[in-house]
Amino acid sequence: MTTFENFIAGAWVAPETGDYFENRNPADWNDLIGTFPRSGASDLAKAVASARRGFAQWSKTPAPARGQVLQRVGQLLVERKEDIARAMTREMGKVLAETRGDVQEGIDTAFYAATEGRRLFGRVVPSELRNKWAMSYRRPIGVAGLITPFNFPLAIPTWKMFPALLCGNAVIFKPAEDVPLTGHLLVEVLLEAGLPPEVVQLVHGQGSVVGRALVEHPDVPVISFTGSTETGARIGETCGRMHKRLSLEMGGKNAMLVMDDADLDLALDGVVWGAFGTTGQRCTATSRLILHEKIHDRFLQRVADRVQQLRLGPGLEEGTDVGPLIHEEAREKVDEYVGIAKGEGAVVAIGGSVPGGAKLERGWFYTPTIFAGVKPGMRVEQEEIFGPALAVLKAKDLAEAIRINNDVQYGLSSSLYTRDVNGAFRAMADLDTGITYINAPTIGAEAHLPFGGVKQTGNGHREGGWEVYDFYSETKVVYVDYSGKLQRAQIDTYES
Ligand code: NAP
Repeated sequence: MTTFENFIAGAWVAPETGDYFENRNPADWNDLIGTFPRSGASDLAKAVASARRGFAQWSKTPAPARGQVLQRVGQLLVERKEDIARAMTREMGKVLAETRGDVQEGIDTAFYAATEGRRLFGRVVPSELRNKWAMSYRRPIGVAGLITPFNFPLAIPTWKMFPALLCGNAVIFKPAEDVPLTGHLLVEVLLEAGLPPEVVQLVHGQGSVVGRALVEHPDVPVISFTGSTETGARIGETCGRMHKRLSLEMGGKNAMLVMDDADLDLALDGVVWGAFGTTGQRCTATSRLILHEKIHDRFLQRVADRVQQLRLGPGLEEGTDVGPLIHEEAREKVDEYVGIAKGEGAVVAIGGSVPGGAKLERGWFYTPTIFAGVKPGMRVEQEEIFGPALAVLKAKDLAEAIRINNDVQYGLSSSLYTRDVNGAFRAMADLDTGITYINAPTIGAEAHLPFGGVKQTGNGHREGGWEVYDFYSETKVVYVDYSGKLQRAQIDTYES
């Protein structure tokens, strides 16, 4: 068994607490992957002091040179893609094809960040006065605290880390306790690629201890968090009080709308992948299916038939479609919602139980579940379950389907299947989510476009795309007056 350490002040070090936690395979809890530091606030304080030194150096490194480091990071990720994907499946559970995709997203994010090193645009605009120059440019901010969830153990940390580094910040990375190994492998890659050691710090441990210490530390002016809406709200309170820059990406209750004119074969593939891929543990997972009343019964039957054929098993095993949930509480939560759904009058069309069989008995598996007869406002329709559970509703037309979609507290992703071009454009305008897919499921973001949600999913910032570079840089404006006389903006405007 391997004991892993934190990376603080340029070295792999044991936590000052002396305490470690176990990381086990969710598909087989007898499989102990390693032990990782259960750090305390003093470990975090050392990481911050070191990151400040790292920042002083890195912020002066030209952005194209910072980009070159990220280019090498991308290259190393390409070389290690298979090894990292296998390690990730072992600790997180999702099937190998998906963990390969998770690493690929990190690769895309690295290469995209590398090119931004030569393009970190400011603006030069005409001054309203003669003989005066007016421009803006981007400056690094300082130490960025990055707190990430379990479900995309590599991609989500890279969405935060790479743009933060490209902009010249130092980073402190607190991965979710469920996936510390992938975090460790990512930091190894950064160091091997030539990132100066004090620019990145890896501090493992509990969110309520070390995550909280990171958020509360006065020398960490930037916090980027992805996780549940409840944790995000708590972090938001602290950051608001301390005037920190904060990006929040949180929960979702995403819907796929299928109209009566849709290509139903295509929609069927889409909903099975959208709802049960990653065992439903995606922020963008399809957790509601809103069907036009004319196709409701037959399409629901086809979905149920298909989902029943999905093969549960360890993600490393060839032929597995659906892996385990991340841990016991996650499985209990799904089971609890089965009880809630029944209590509310919904019908458990398929699933709703812990599966049997020798292959599954030591993992957190749950049978893919479909709730039929769900009505708007039921808890299974409103609340994020974050597991292999799909709530199916009926709508009389597109307008009603859009209303149902919008009537939740979340607003991450939505999807519409239709052949009606006018309806598609109406939905693009009216679906109240940060991302909308037409004729594709609710999942499948691309690295060079902004990613994020509205309402209680996010606080207005975005990950990915160009927009994230705004978050990790401070815009400074410089005016150079070379007229040799006092010119008063607004007062002397347009004077000759
Ligand atoms: P979580 O329980 O909120 O944890 C997220 C991270 O926050 C973990 O690293 C956790 O540490 C840490 N944390 C917990 N309490 C904290 C505190 N008081 N202060 C600072 N940090 C704290 O979420 P999760 O279960 O890992 O992830 C599932 C959730 O993430 C779902 O709601 C999903 O929708 C959301 N998500 C959203 C997006 C998006 O882009 N919108 C993407 C992916 C996931 P420990 O786990 O180590 O305790």
